[in-house]
Amino acid sequence: MPELPEVETIRRIIEPQTAGRSVVSISIHNPKIITFPDADTFESSLAGCTFTGMSRKGKFLIFHLDNGSRLVLHLRMTGQLLVTPPDYPEEKHTHLIAELSDGKQLRYIDVRRFGRFWLLGKDEADTVTGMDKLGIEPDDEALTVDFLKEKLSKRRKAIKEMLLDQTIIAGIGNIYSDEILHAAGIYPEKPCNILTNAEWKRLAEQIPQVIAWATEANEITPEDYLAGKGKEYRNTPFLRAYGHSGKPCEVCGTPFEKMIVGGRSSCYCPKCQKK
Ligand SMILES: [Zn+2]
Repeated sequence: MPELPEVETIRRIIEPQTAGRSVVSISIHNPKIITFPDADTFESSLAGCTFTGMSRKGKFLIFHLDNGSRLVLHLRMTGQLLVTPPDYPEEKHTHLIAELSDGKQLRYIDVRRFGRFWLLGKDEADTVTGMDKLGIEPDDEALTVDFLKEKLSKRRKAIKEMLLDQTIIAGIGNIYSDEILHAAGIYPEKPCNILTNAEWKRLAEQIPQVIAWATEANEITPEDYLAGKGKEYRNTPFLRAYGHSGKPCEVCGTPFEKMIVGGRSSCYCPKCQKK
């Protein structure tokens, strides 16, 4: 599943290719991907609108429209968003195509079909999408040692699990929780209520740093993005911990180990991240 750095990469690629363009027509091949409103209303309301820009909240992508509406998308497991020339070969599992006023097409492809679209009217609340429940962004200045301790230090759950809780910090998933905990030298299964002050401090420093580093490392040209069908950015050779089970730690050379925390696999260095 794309996490904050990947979703932000998509925003940076797609925004300049859609802003200022209007939607000439839409064809929805699979209405299941439209959560709100119904597919017919979605189609008729979006046609004629002009994209003014994009933003991101956690792992949600938001297209802003000239009439104050917002087109919201969550890619979930395998969603891919492309802007293509009109004659670009259609990928299998293409569920939505919007014809843009510059002749290009905005296409949504999703092999596993878990991704979801919402079209929120001008005054529609974020409760419709669940975005209202999202916690703060990793780069929010409010993310401090005090914030983390206030939210988490009484919890008995593993710190890895709590980093995945979108209602506390938005945008972190399995990949970047592993990266953050490795960078901060914290054992993934350590219960929040026994983390030391030094560990909270390292966590508050590493959360924004790791996310910023990964977002930069994810940078890709629009040409490479399209050539990789919007998936290329998920080849993340820069990662230092996630998926590194059995490989040596860059810091100390100790092989990474793997364990399950809260139902999710977690890679950690037994030396840098002592139990
Ligand atoms: Zn290590």
